[in-house]
Amino acid sequence: MLVVMAAQATEEQIRAVCAQIEHLGLKPLAVPGPSRTAICITGNQGAIDLGTLESLPGVLECIPVSKPYKLVSLEVKAEPTIVRIPTPVGEAAIGGGSVGLIAGPCAIESRDQAFAIARHVREAGGKLLRGGAYKPRTSPYSFQGLGLPGLEILRDIRKEIGLGIVTEAVDHESLDLVEQYADMIQIGARNMQNYSLLKRAGRSKIPVMLKRGLAATLDEFLMAAEYIMAEGNYNVVLCERGVRTFSDFTRHTLDLAVVPAVRARSHLPILVDPSHGTGKRSKVLPLSRAAIAVGADGLLVEVHHDPASALSDGTQAILPEELRQLWSEARQIAGVLHRSVN
Ligand code: PEP
Ligand code: MN
Repeated sequence: MLVVMAAQATEEQIRAVCAQIEHLGLKPLAVPGPSRTAICITGNQGAIDLGTLESLPGVLECIPVSKPYKLVSLEVKAEPTIVRIPTPVGEAAIGGGSVGLIAGPCAIESRDQAFAIARHVREAGGKLLRGGAYKPRTSPYSFQGLGLPGLEILRDIRKEIGLGIVTEAVDHESLDLVEQYADMIQIGARNMQNYSLLKRAGRSKIPVMLKRGLAATLDEFLMAAEYIMAEGNYNVVLCERGVRTFSDFTRHTLDLAVVPAVRARSHLPILVDPSHGTGKRSKVLPLSRAAIAVGADGLLVEVHHDPASALSDGTQAILPEELRQLWSEARQIAGVLHRSVN
């Protein structure tokens, strides 16, 4: 259920509606919009008795929300969400006409490797660096990431090169650390349905990038985002990174059709990751162009100056010169669609 407040409703009236919802044993979540505030009611098992709510001062109308996801849905918020990430080189905005570009290595392998790639990302005009200090690997014997020393390298890159940091948290312990060092927390595909981790990310003060699970339906993907928002963190960016199909010429099948499908259901921005989506360097640029053309709010791309010696995902990392080309093309394609890369 959604309680839509009148445009001129006061803070006090909004608080009174929230208090009444709590009095009914339910949970109110206020979603401020540019012209009015909506209060989303969660926690109800069946229909809600509207009698008292509808007559409270400042209430415009009460609308039932038909979808299982609420805070994520266009019914609750019709305007696109713009996630703003402050970085030392200026704000990076993702969503609502602003296309965000995030690039970097799969993993932080060493200080020299991470700094070299970060310089290339900055030179290409990037504001946000990706790179995992904690890596969720299929094999327990593969490189698992540097852990805290990796985060310290990222902190130094932030300070010395100026890039904002996007890095993955794989569990509660790493999330406690990641939020001290990063500007955006990445929740990986394998953790998309780790509900306890999603709730923890929802209690964080910094934006979250949520990657689609390897076999997640669109509803499951949106419900995972709902978990984060239901805890109070509304700065969520979705990321399509390919799903498992019978197709075997790429690592995963990049589901670009999910971009307009998300747009039709949710106000949240959605990025596309063509690196994990294809697993192949030669396919990253073509699929990136397609992603911007289909309306993605940005790209998450793996880049490496020496992919042959990368400790993870070398085959899908593009080279620094390809990154420069890609970003120039992304700017042009976005421009055709009246959107801009910031
Ligand atoms: C990554 O971004 O390096 C990663 C591990 O991605 P995913 O969770 O999509 O596999
Ligand atoms: Mn990777």
